[in-house]
Amino acid sequence: MKIGFHVSISRGFDAAREEALKLGCEVIQIFVKNPRSWAERALTDGDVEAFGRLSACLPVYAHLSYLPNLAKVDGDERNLKGLLHEASLCARLGIRYLVAHPGSHPDKAHGAQMTAAAVNTVHDNHDVTVLIENTAGQGSALGANVGELARIYEGIGDKDRALICMDTAHLFQSGYPIAAKKGWNGLVSEFDRVLGIEKIGLFHLNDSKAPAGARIDRHWHIGEGEIGLKFFKRLLQDKRFAHLAGVMETPKMGNMDETNMKVMRSLFPALVPRSPS
Ligand SMILES: [Zn+2]
Ligand SMILES: [Zn+2]
Repeated sequence: MKIGFHVSISRGFDAAREEALKLGCEVIQIFVKNPRSWAERALTDGDVEAFGRLSACLPVYAHLSYLPNLAKVDGDERNLKGLLHEASLCARLGIRYLVAHPGSHPDKAHGAQMTAAAVNTVHDNHDVTVLIENTAGQGSALGANVGELARIYEGIGDKDRALICMDTAHLFQSGYPIAAKKGWNGLVSEFDRVLGIEKIGLFHLNDSKAPAGARIDRHWHIGEGEIGLKFFKRLLQDKRFAHLAGVMETPKMGNMDETNMKVMRSLFPALVPRSPS
């Protein structure tokens, strides 16, 4: 599995590239604009050129900003407008994949329809695929289990493009006992039965500060949270997912990115070519 981090673009794409390379990332995820604002972003030619230098180094996934609620695209027009704006930024930059939380709605069946409709609108208008991320199930958030993800998937028109992003912390927080081998294999089997394992398009590799099933979204450093190192070792060495990328969204604290990367590498040492004998 190729691994890396969510990297800040607040100082521009060139600074993000330097940061990614310094950390030894093989893949990164970014926001394409300020994630805390509805304001649209105008990309300059200079931005696009700098992004080209970044994406020449490693694959780049985008994560939708925090504000658009895809489950309520029929409630507030800013939700769909915001999503489409970010999809258009991805298209201009040449980013193929945009990760999005499925949103929240007290009526989960209706919310799932709206989320699928929002994804379809992106797929119809841009050469950008939306990866729906599983959630911790906080409040009325959709996507807290395989059934809820499947309900959204059912509404997506272009099944070939439909993909899920699996966040390990969210799985654990929503109640899947993935820290144990049996629990992890159970989840993978359920996912495979309902959606098909090939529908996992990306991993978010986060440990959890919140206890199992807490339905609270708190990411934590790899091996220092409630999930623990054994799980990450099992996942990184799982051949079924070796072709995928995994992005850490661990808290940015001091040198913890360096530490988290070192810990990950220790679980998954690069194969040393054997000398011919
Ligand atoms: Zn995530
Ligand atoms: Zn999270």
